[in-house]
Amino acid sequence: MVKIPEAIARLFGRKWVCRRCKTVIRGDSQKIRAGEIHCRKCGQRHFRAKSKEKRIKGK
Ligand SMILES: [Zn+2]
Repeated sequence: MVKIPEAIARLFGRKWVCRRCKTVIRGDSQKIRAGEIHCRKCGQRHFRAKSKEKRIKGK
């Protein structure tokens, strides 16, 4: 399969995983970085990108 950065960004770029409770949150990266998005479960604001994790594990 050909990996297209644009497609990956479109599919996974807005998904984030809470570092504390691992809830998946959808939001723009700009908002995540600005701290505008809170985890709906535990309320904290630290997230990691979901896509990267998968890419690294896949290789
Ligand atoms: Zn959380």
